[in-house]
Amino acid sequence: MQRILIDMDDVMADTSQKILDMVNDNTNSYYTKELLISDLKIREEYQEKYQPLRYKLWDKGFFRDIPLMPDAQEVVAKLYKKYEIFVVSAATEFPNSLSEKLEWLEDYFPYIGWTHTVFCGHKWMIRADYIIDDHEKNLVNFQGKGLLFDAVHNKHITDFQRVNSWKEIGDLLL
Ligand SMILES: [Mg+2]
Repeated sequence: MQRILIDMDDVMADTSQKILDMVNDNTNSYYTKELLISDLKIREEYQEKYQPLRYKLWDKGFFRDIPLMPDAQEVVAKLYKKYEIFVVSAATEFPNSLSEKLEWLEDYFPYIGWTHTVFCGHKWMIRADYIIDDHEKNLVNFQGKGLLFDAVHNKHITDFQRVNSWKEIGDLLL
């Protein structure tokens, strides 16, 4: 059975949307992902507003109510029947997130379980056939096939196969 590593933030969970909502709420702004993609200047302005609020990622509860990425539940459930699935999240930077991420996974992907959930700092030492991740740093030293999950912050990356949605991952791997 081939093994797939699946990232949580911005792959299973729409963490960018939660951050966007947090920035909008705290700065009385109306940013959307589409707006950020459309204009570099707006993206820079958004980053300036986000940086002073970044400490909130360490707050208790931040990772507990992240919205699900569209179609993630359906496609992961199908992949689970065909592949060995591990959730791999670089979460140890955020100590409070560890229990919250386990609870979140229990809500939406209860069949994966703690035995197949890996919380780490770096991912390069973990071996598998595929990794689905939104960050280039997690794909560069990976020995299997890296699939870059499309995100506002990775539009400029061209070195890896891009997947734009969970439907696309289903078409590719099922
Ligand atoms: Mg991620």
